[in-house]
Amino acid sequence: MHELSIAQSLVELAAEAAENSGIKKVKALFLKLGVLSGVVKEALEFSFDVVVQGTSLEGAKLIIEDVPVTIFCPNCQEERILPEPLPMRCPTCGTKTGQVLAGREMELYALEGGEENA
Ligand SMILES: [Zn+2]
Repeated sequence: MHELSIAQSLVELAAEAAENSGIKKVKALFLKLGVLSGVVKEALEFSFDVVVQGTSLEGAKLIIEDVPVTIFCPNCQEERILPEPLPMRCPTCGTKTGQVLAGREMELYALEGGEENA
């Protein structure tokens, strides 16, 4: 299950980031997850709860923000956010495009700590 190894690296990454910013107790991790990342959100949440046990992050919550697919439409010359990940075509004019600007990312973008700057 590949979400398990992703969860493992998330915990390691967050533990390191917490140490670097002087957070003694991490309360929450905020993750941006693109709908095209290939990661199943529910599986990742479940895996996180498993791997976090017994680590310095135990008790922390994983808060996942879904990132929709953003494409660039060559016809409109505009960025468009897709209501659904597929099909990849402009929701306004219907032009197909392979220019994906967002939606594939997985990024740990914030940590919430109990004792910051301690
Ligand atoms: Zn268009």
